[in-house]
Amino acid sequence: MERKEFKCAAVVLAAGAGKRMQSATKKQFLLIKEKPIIFYSLKAFEESLVDEIVLVTSEDDVTYCKEEIVNKYGFSKVKDVVVGGKERYHSVAAGLEAVSDCDYVFIHDAARPMLTQEIINRSYESVVSGNACVVGMPVKDTIKIADEKGFIAQTPNRSMVWMIQTPQVFAYSLIKEAYEQLLLQEEELIAKGIIITDDAMVVETLMGHPVKLVEGSYENIKITTPDDLQIAEHFLDTMK
Ligand code: C5P
Repeated sequence: MERKEFKCAAVVLAAGAGKRMQSATKKQFLLIKEKPIIFYSLKAFEESLVDEIVLVTSEDDVTYCKEEIVNKYGFSKVKDVVVGGKERYHSVAAGLEAVSDCDYVFIHDAARPMLTQEIINRSYESVVSGNACVVGMPVKDTIKIADEKGFIAQTPNRSMVWMIQTPQVFAYSLIKEAYEQLLLQEEELIAKGIIITDDAMVVETLMGHPVKLVEGSYENIKITTPDDLQIAEHFLDTMK
């Protein structure tokens, strides 16, 4: 790939509790093919066009991350390991604070080990042209919107429905401002019942800025439940 004029950072999120994994070890530190899950996305960014990485984790895991992951595997682009917060968006805000001034920032869930250079490069091209993009894939199944009683309320046109993945990539100034606004308006949004589950939502809701959808891959799964570990292991075996 011909590149690159712009400075890019990555915020890798690993401060979640991973309760749905039903495991004593937090999911981002479980092993797949003898390496912690978080290793794979750090490796992808280390080998990519990204210049620096900020890893966000919980307070208890900072030393482990520094010693057993960053130093052990020699991830030289990891500039800082910082403490996250209660919700994912608190962790993103902490990561953005620690990033040095840059042009673009990739926000990525450490729980998605199948990140590839193709995905990073495609999302880079898109963010350079429009300042905001998220990786995802069109859904294969028909999706229904349910009402509170568990009946179907709507059937959206399948060709317009995407499942959203990470990375989600933004101009640094745009995402920084969006998260500052979010923290200022947090109570108001909670009172309105708005639940922030990804970064695109922050940019759409608080900045009114369009966000482009970029093709990720069906392999770029988020490890959530124990079955996902086997699926990811299989995908990693078949990866180029
Ligand atoms: O919980 P979920 O699987 O949606 O989390 C997505 C990613 O965000 C995970 O990599 C998790 O470690 C991270 N996260 C975080 N801080 C939180 C909650 C989740 O960094 N408070």
